[in-house]
Amino acid sequence: MTAVIDPQAELDTPLLQDNVQLIGGEWVPAASGETIEVINPANRQLLARIPRGTADDVDAAVKAAEQALPAWRDLNATARASLLYRWATLVEENAEVLDQLESRDVGRPHWGPSPVPGMLRFIAGQADKVHGVSLPTYSPDVMGFTVREPFGVVGAIIPWNAPGPMFTNEVAASIAAGNTIVIKPAEDAPLAPLALAKLAMDAGIPAGVVNVVTGYGSEAGAAIPSHPGIRRVGFTGSPATGSIVMEACARNLIPLHLELGGKSPQVVFPDANLSAAAPAIAAGITMNTGQICAAGSRVVVHRSVHQEMVERLAEAMQKVTVGPWHQQVNMGPLINGRQHERVMGYIEAGKSGGADLVLGGGVPSGEAFGDGFFVNPTLFDNVKPDMKIAQEEIFGPVLSVIPVDNEEEAVAVANGVDYGLVASVWTEDVGTAVRMSRALEAGQVGVNNALGAGVIGGPFGGYKSSGFGRTMGADAVQNWTQVKTISMRGATRPGN
Ligand code: NAD
Repeated sequence: MTAVIDPQAELDTPLLQDNVQLIGGEWVPAASGETIEVINPANRQLLARIPRGTADDVDAAVKAAEQALPAWRDLNATARASLLYRWATLVEENAEVLDQLESRDVGRPHWGPSPVPGMLRFIAGQADKVHGVSLPTYSPDVMGFTVREPFGVVGAIIPWNAPGPMFTNEVAASIAAGNTIVIKPAEDAPLAPLALAKLAMDAGIPAGVVNVVTGYGSEAGAAIPSHPGIRRVGFTGSPATGSIVMEACARNLIPLHLELGGKSPQVVFPDANLSAAAPAIAAGITMNTGQICAAGSRVVVHRSVHQEMVERLAEAMQKVTVGPWHQQVNMGPLINGRQHERVMGYIEAGKSGGADLVLGGGVPSGEAFGDGFFVNPTLFDNVKPDMKIAQEEIFGPVLSVIPVDNEEEAVAVANGVDYGLVASVWTEDVGTAVRMSRALEAGQVGVNNALGAGVIGGPFGGYKSSGFGRTMGADAVQNWTQVKTISMRGATRPGN
């Protein structure tokens, strides 16, 4: 077990070195020598310096990944799986430090056991289950079948809100399929990804299979989908950036998956168990300070239970304690100043747009909050479906309650946004649950749960502007492969 990091002390763990990124198995600074400061969002103090990677660093990483590719691709799939299992064990052994790195970087209080070891083991279990099919042929001399092969060198770009799981999602599935990868973590939260990459090396995953280039999106990030050596891309982040990344992929004619934002509805029917729904919805919008793509940010509630629901939500959100991650609190700060301004801007839009502010709406004051990017859990009532706060992703702890009169209107309001990531329905009636599960336009539907109820191996991804492609499910590894059809004519029988 590695030692736990003292929350007040300088960052000190063998999993991290100062100002280096991982290229071809070497921990190196940026080619330019420039650095980026990573800030603790709870107090704006310097956490670490990381390399400001650019296109030159991405190019070096692609070359390293190209060099590592033949041996990794040709390693048998069971051996690749074994290395991923070993990686999972090391992650588990270092769970506490990894958790604290991510907490410091994102500002999030401990949110329970890390999902990363389980994610790695799930993917490892799929590595040797990638197979093709046999095909009928016109002649007995011919055999036909398909094989699935890796794309080659692939790229990924991830956001800051859950850096460890996001890193694992893209890296584990792509390398399990035999690809080698160049990944760029978000400039705001690169520490857990760098530490996970160190553990991948320690597990024996060969040099050059996993390359991590740190840097800004417009520099290192933009260089990944536009690099001619990259054969496929995975992007998780905002729709605006997703569209830029997709354009770059289009220019190079390479495929990608996009995991984008959400404006997830929580549809509450009169027969719902409100005492279960309210705290779950409050927890869903305040966990990670509302910075979760899946967060249920709109409560679409039947008018007959509207008032009671608002009271229960206010009560539950009032109990959410706010503070720095290492204290016994439920909710930390937002990630950075830009995000803080953005969330406060939406709160102002809610007020000026005519919604009723029930709770929050400001920043907490007091010594504990210092210069941190804190905001109070905020509840708006009587929100109209076309208001800005009901349509756009806020990515903060701001919940909008929209009363409706019947199921038809509930469906229209729930689906009446550009996004389609997650949707929940709260009801005790199985008929309502079935109808709503079919009617809601979302990649994931929860019945009587706000953020998914711990399904193992559920594919994750969006409908509409929330993106396309799926990660995490049984097809996660296959998605990083391409299909080859082989027709094989054998030698004609002697004498014929
Ligand atoms: P973002 O789009 O600003 O940044 C995401 C990543 O893209 C970062 O690494 C960033 O450096 C990089 N980037 C920025 N500009 C780029 C460019 N021009 N070219 C290439 N890369 C570039 O998003 P964010 O603010 O980091 O994350 C929040 C968003 O992510 C929200 O919309 C959230 O819903 C979404 N998200 C989605 C999922 C999902 O699975 N669907 C999961 C987590 C977050």
